[in-house]
Amino acid sequence: MTTAQIISGKQVSDEIRQNLKTEVESLAEQGCVPGLAVVLVGEDPASQVYVRNKAKACEDLGFYSEVHRLEADTSQEDLLELVHKLNEQSNINGILVQLPLPKQIEEKAIINAIAPSKDVDGFHPVNVGNLVIGDDSLLPCTPAGVIELIKHTGIEISGKHAVVIGRSNIVGKPVSMLLQRENATVTMCHSRTANMKELTRQADILVVAVGRANFVDASYIKPGAVVIDVGINRLETGKLAGDVDFESASSVSGPITPVPGGVGPMTITMLMKNTLLAAKRAHGLS
Ligand code: NAP
Repeated sequence: MTTAQIISGKQVSDEIRQNLKTEVESLAEQGCVPGLAVVLVGEDPASQVYVRNKAKACEDLGFYSEVHRLEADTSQEDLLELVHKLNEQSNINGILVQLPLPKQIEEKAIINAIAPSKDVDGFHPVNVGNLVIGDDSLLPCTPAGVIELIKHTGIEISGKHAVVIGRSNIVGKPVSMLLQRENATVTMCHSRTANMKELTRQADILVVAVGRANFVDASYIKPGAVVIDVGINRLETGKLAGDVDFESASSVSGPITPVPGGVGPMTITMLMKNTLLAAKRAHGLS
């Protein structure tokens, strides 16, 4: 049985949402209501669930929201036209185009068309560039959620050795940049890393975003290290599994996130936080 502290993403997420709700109420008195547009192309079941959850979060927090559902055979031109329209719409502060997109549409073209000030996913090259150079930007949601969870443990990030397994544009790279911004010394591992366990066993903070169920066990972990599992993998049994073997890892780790209930709940919460920030900036209030 684990004696490690379990970091509840649900609890941290609920706390942040409560604060956001209070802020939305006071902003409404100043005539500022954050607005989020979510665009779904096609009928991918997982995407439909994500879109529904995002609309529900908006409703719960008092945001204005629009959901645009487009046919699976929508052309890139038509999607771009909608994005341009939403860029101009003053009651919309955040635009989220649900990925993945059908193959006739180039994701990069769509991401690049979203106004950086409304890019609440934090994927636009302007926001990515600002993150790298340390300027104000809209941060990508899952990586920002990872940092919130680490901070919630009360463990100081500054001066620690953080190891990130994974270097994708949506998780590994931005998490590494954010950890570095918090003054951690960061090592990034990927599929070509040699002697990975030697590196991960030095980590005070280990973030795992590999996309392989139960990839990291106790043998990768320094006793007492903080372990954040970003992975969401659907097993053949239908159950969800993280990238970390929780049973094994938690026998040596310090604070550790479970799957589900760890990083997952943070992503939409950080999306809401970004939309609120974008709304405040649009109203000259930040
Ligand atoms: P990805 O694009 O597939 O990237 C996986 C990364 O892991 C790559 O950088 C890859 O290295 C590395 N990798 C693969 N096999 C490895 C190995 N044997 N040893 C070391 N590194 C290895 O995945 P992603 O989009 O970053 O997502 C990672 C996980 O997070 C997935 O399970 C995904 O479902 C989950 N996720 C969760 C959320 C959330 O809201 N909680 C959001 C996004 C993603 P190379 O670069 O060398 O190929």
